[in-house]
Amino acid sequence: AIPLVIAISTGISARAGILVTDRLALERMRTVDTVLFDKTGTLTRGRPAVSEVLATGRADEDTVLGLAAAAEHDSEHPLAAAIVDAASERMKLPRATGFRSLTGRGVVATVDGKEIAVGGPSLLRHYEVEPPAELDRRTRALADRGATVLHVLRDGGVIGALALADEIRPESRQAVDALHAEGVRVVMITGDARNVAESVAAELGVDEVFAEVLPQDKDSAVARLQERGQRVAMVGDGVNDAPALARADVGIAIGAGTDVAIESAGVVLVSDDPRGVLAARRLSVASYRKMW
Ligand code: ADP
Ligand code: MG
Repeated sequence: AIPLVIAISTGISARAGILVTDRLALERMRTVDTVLFDKTGTLTRGRPAVSEVLATGRADEDTVLGLAAAAEHDSEHPLAAAIVDAASERMKLPRATGFRSLTGRGVVATVDGKEIAVGGPSLLRHYEVEPPAELDRRTRALADRGATVLHVLRDGGVIGALALADEIRPESRQAVDALHAEGVRVVMITGDARNVAESVAAELGVDEVFAEVLPQDKDSAVARLQERGQRVAMVGDGVNDAPALARADVGIAIGAGTDVAIESAGVVLVSDDPRGVLAARRLSVASYRKMW
């Protein structure tokens, strides 16, 4: 009877868009009491767009946007693509040389003989600079409403900032509610700033947030939950998520995730719908109830 049950589950799972690469992971799924979601690209669409360009007295808005786009030109991050797109609509991009990516912080490159850096809060800490008070007031208000704020630095001084908005997937709220209804705790993890993370978390009703987590520290967050005795499924899409997916009791790669994420996961959700986590849990419950 056992092979038959597996065959049936496989048929159901294929129709639900669930690929099982590790059968033991699927089995463990029914015992999971905590789901840890990556924010960007998982709960949100991961396709940010520039919503505001803010300048200080040291440069105008087009200069801020153009220099940022030039520096981001060779970055593969979705934030970079959004900045390059926004600038290309308005101007011809200046050329950059000596591009470097500072993982989880931002980018640096040389444009017109000056060092241009673009990045989030940890980039400002890295350069030990604080934005002018007026700019800070405006960026805080944007971040409190859920926008990702990146500062633009020229030779180590803040010349402006960009706000980028990423849409929350409409299915995310339903996924969180349905997990709660089954008694599962929902936690969100992100490299994004704390106020942005809190805003998204409040909108979705998630129970706990890990924010400003550097890529190499995502798996420690999984370990921390496990040390509390929680059985954790981690859901993510990115290269950065792979070690956390491998560490979790069940690693779930979502959508058109990167190859590394898929290789590190025991379960792959073919669509990018976070409600697939529930489908996987129900499949696990149904399959293993029949078997044992
Ligand atoms: P997430 O965990 O949300 O997928 P990442 O770890 O990819 O986020 O990035 C975390 C933060 O690092 C971003 O919110 C941003 O502040 C900064 N960052 C990363 N890449 C870039 C980039 N190319 N340009 C500017 N900032 C970046
Ligand atoms: Mg991500």
